[in-house]
Amino acid sequence: MSETTFGLPDFAAITPEGSAAQIREAIAAHTAVIATIAAQDAPPTVANTLLPFEQGAIALRQPAQIAWTFIESVGGPQWDEVDTQITPLLASNEDDVYLNVSLYHRFEELASHELDPQTAWCLSEHLKEFRAHGAHLAAAQQARLRELSSRMAELSSTIGQMIVKAAQNGAVPLTEEEVAGLDASERAGLAANAAANLERAGGTPYLLNLTLPSQQLLSSSFTNPAVRKRIFEASIARGDGHDPATDPRALITELVRLRAEQADLMGFPNYAELIASQSTAGSSSAVDELLGAMVAPTQKNVEREATQLAEFYGHAPFTRSDWLFAQESLRASRFSMDSSELSSYLELTNVVENGVFFAAKQLYGLDFVARPDVAGYAPDGRVWEVREEDGRPLGLFLGDYYAREGKRGGAWMHDLSLRSAHGSEFTVVLNNLNVTKPREGDPTLLTWDQVSTCFHEFGHALHAFLTDVQWPSTAGSNVPRDFVEYPSQVNEMWAVHPQVLDHYALHWQTGDPMPVRLRTALSESEGFAEGFNTSEILQAVLLDQAWHRIGAAGDVPAPGSVATFEEETLRRAGIYSQWIPPRYRSGYFNHIFSSGYAAGYYSYLWSEALDADTVDWFNTEGSRGADGGLNREAGQKMRECVLSRGNSRDPLEGFGELRGRSVDTRALLRRRRLI
Ligand SMILES: [Zn+2]
Repeated sequence: MSETTFGLPDFAAITPEGSAAQIREAIAAHTAVIATIAAQDAPPTVANTLLPFEQGAIALRQPAQIAWTFIESVGGPQWDEVDTQITPLLASNEDDVYLNVSLYHRFEELASHELDPQTAWCLSEHLKEFRAHGAHLAAAQQARLRELSSRMAELSSTIGQMIVKAAQNGAVPLTEEEVAGLDASERAGLAANAAANLERAGGTPYLLNLTLPSQQLLSSSFTNPAVRKRIFEASIARGDGHDPATDPRALITELVRLRAEQADLMGFPNYAELIASQSTAGSSSAVDELLGAMVAPTQKNVEREATQLAEFYGHAPFTRSDWLFAQESLRASRFSMDSSELSSYLELTNVVENGVFFAAKQLYGLDFVARPDVAGYAPDGRVWEVREEDGRPLGLFLGDYYAREGKRGGAWMHDLSLRSAHGSEFTVVLNNLNVTKPREGDPTLLTWDQVSTCFHEFGHALHAFLTDVQWPSTAGSNVPRDFVEYPSQVNEMWAVHPQVLDHYALHWQTGDPMPVRLRTALSESEGFAEGFNTSEILQAVLLDQAWHRIGAAGDVPAPGSVATFEEETLRRAGIYSQWIPPRYRSGYFNHIFSSGYAAGYYSYLWSEALDADTVDWFNTEGSRGADGGLNREAGQKMRECVLSRGNSRDPLEGFGELRGRSVDTRALLRRRRLI
C-alpha cells in the first residue's frame, strides 16, 4: 500500500478468481473476529467491542468494494460470476453477525454506559440493525425470519430477471418508414440493435429496446402517431400477464405477503411502517404529510398541461401516447433550444474541472490535482488528488465517465474507502457515468442532463471527502436512504449558477462563452413539464406505499387483480391520470420488487424537499451580495452542518442547524410548480 496513491490497489493485478478468493478469506477472518468479540468474559467496553467490530467490518469491506468496482464498472461474464458467488455469502455473513445474540447483548449493555454522543449514536444505529435482523426475537421467530429472508431474496432476484426479460421481449421492431423523425445517430443505434437481435427484429431493419420507465424517451421523436402508440402500449403492458414467461404477478403478491409477515414479526403494522422507522422520516404519517400536499396541485397541473399540449398538438385525436411527443416539441419551440448547439458549450473536461471542481473550490476550498501517474481500473478513467485549502490531502477522486461494454447503465457514486478517526486515513471515491465515447480526436460534448448528473454524482463524492467522524460505519454517505440523495441533489444547483456557468460553459473550439440566448433558455425552461414529471413519480410512490401498507392479516390482491389494485389505489389517492401512467407499473417496478427501494421510493421526494429548502437557503441567508451562496462562508456552514457529519448523529439535525428549523416542504412545492 503506497502512501502517494492513498491505498489505491494495483488494479492491473486483480483477477475475478483472485478477488472472489480474497473475499472468502476476508469473510472467514471476519467470522473469527466476531466470534472473539462475542465470546469475551470481560464486560463490554468500546475498546473490546465496538472498536474491533468496526475495524473487522472495514477489513471485509475493502476487498468487497474493490470487487464491486469491477462488477459494476467493468462487468462481463467473469465478474457476473463473482457477483453471483459473493452476494449470498456476504448476505449470510451479515445475518450471522446481526443475529449473534451474545454480540447483541454486549452492544445493548455497552449502549447503557456513559458515552460520547458520536459513540452513543453509532451504537444505537448498530442496535437498530440487530433488531432489523430480529436479534431481539425468540429463536422460532428468528428461524422464520431467516426463512423469509432467503425466500424473499429468491423472489426479488427472479422478478428482477423477469423485468429484464420483459424489456427484451417487448422490444419494438420498426420498418424504414416507421422511424421517420429520428436523426441519423438514433437510427444507427436502432439498426445496430436489430442486427444484434435478428430473431426479435423479425426481418425489420430497426429494433427499439424498452428502457425501464413507462415512458420511452425516444418515442418523443417519432412523427408517426401509430408508432408512438405501439411503443407506449408495449411499454406499459410489461408484466401484465400477456407473456407468461415474464409475468411476475404471482411472485410480486407472494413477496408482498412475506414482507407483511416480516413486519408483523418485528412488531410493525405493515412493511411501510417498518421501513419508515429505519429512515429519517420515522413514520408513514410523516411520509403521508409530504405526499398529501402534492396530490391535488399535481392533478391540476396535469390537466393544465394536457390542455396546452392538446392545443399545441393541433390535430385530433390527442392521446396519452402522444403526450411526450407534444411535450418535447413544445419545449423545443417555446425555448428555441437546439440541443446540439447547447452541447458545443458543454465539453466534459471543462464541465468537470472548470465547473464541478470550480464550484467545490469556491464553496469548500478544495483543490484538485490531476494524477495521470496513477492507474485506475479502466484505460479511459481519470484520477485527481483532492486537497484541503491548506494543502492537506483528503484522498483520490476517480472519474469514470464513458460507457463501455459490460459496464452497468446509469450513473452512480462508489467508494473504495471513507475517512474516519478509527478507520481509513483517506477517502477514495469513483463517479460513474455512461457518456458515449467519441471517435478518437473528437471532443466529448455532454447533454444538459449529463452536466447535471456530473454535479449530482460529485455531490455524493463531497459527502465522502468532507466526512469528519469517529466511526467508519457512520462516514460519508452511510446515511438512511431517504437522506442520501440530499447532498447530491443540492450540488446540482451549481450547474446553472451564473458564475459557475461563466467558468465552464465555453465553446469547445472557439472558447467563446455560452450566448445569453441559450443561458436564458436554460433558466426559463426550469419548471417546464413539472406537472407531468411530478405525476409520474408521485403515482409510483403511492403505488409503492399501497403495496407495503397491506398488513399481515390484510388482503393481498390475487395475481389476476394487480391492474385493478393499481387503478383503485391511484383513484383512491386522487392521483389517477388518464394521460400519464405511473413511472413504473407494478409488473416492472424494479426499484421496489427487486432492488432495495421497497416502501422507500418516496426517498427521492423526501430528499428533494430538504434539497429545495437548502437551495433557498443558499440563495437567501447563504448569499453574500448577489453571489447566490457561492462563497466559502456558506460552503463552510453546509460542510459543518451536513457534509462532514455523515451518520454520526441524526442526519436531520444537520439540516435543522443549517436552516434553524425543520424542513419547510413548500420549497419543494414551489420548485415543482405546485404552489
Ligand atoms: Zn444520487
